[in-house]
Amino acid sequence: MGGTALSETPHWLQNFLEDAVERKLCSKINCRTCGAPEFRNGLRAALQEAVGDRPVRRFADELDRVARALAQVQPYEADPRRFELAVRFILYEIWRQLGATMSELPIEPLVRGTWVGGVLRRMQEHFWTVMDLRAIHDDKNDPEKVRVRRLEAKRIRRENHARRLVQKQEQDRIWWQTHQRTSTERKRPEID
Ligand SMILES: [Zn+2]
Repeated sequence: MGGTALSETPHWLQNFLEDAVERKLCSKINCRTCGAPEFRNGLRAALQEAVGDRPVRRFADELDRVARALAQVQPYEADPRRFELAVRFILYEIWRQLGATMSELPIEPLVRGTWVGGVLRRMQEHFWTVMDLRAIHDDKNDPEKVRVRRLEAKRIRRENHARRLVQKQEQDRIWWQTHQRTSTERKRPEID
C-alpha cells in the first residue's frame, strides 16, 4: 500500500520550491540551454518522498496530491520573481504532461482562490493572448485567404480602371459634341 496522507510531509512542495530558489536551479519553461534537469529531478524526488514507497513516474499521475500542495503554497518574499517562475514551471509541466489545453487544467478548481490559482489565471490569460495572436497571424497568412484577397484587390483595380475609362470616353464624347457645335478656338479640357 503506502502513499497515505499520513506519510506526507507537510509543505513538501513549499520546502522544495524555496530550496530550489535558494540554489538558483533553472526552472525556465522550455529551457533550451539545460532543460532544467535539476529542478525536474528535485521535484520528482520531493513528490516521491511525499507519496511514499509507491513509485511515482510523472507528477501528473499524482495530480490530487500536487494540487493540494500547490493550493497551500505561499509566495516566497526572499525571491518572489524566481519563486513564481518555479511555480509556473510546475503548472506548465502538468499541462504538458496531461496534453490538456491550458483552459481545462483539471487542478484549476483545486487551486481556485489561492495564490497559485492567481498565477495559473495569469498564465491562462497569457496563453489565450498568444493563441489569439496566432489565430490572427494564421488567418492573415492562410494561402487560400491570401489568394482570395489578391483576386479581390485585382478585381477592384480592374473595375476602377474600367470606370475611369468609361468616364473618360463620356467626357471625350461631350467635348467633341461641344467642340463641333462651338468655336474651334476652344481648348480641349484637361482630363485626369
Ligand atoms: Zn536552463
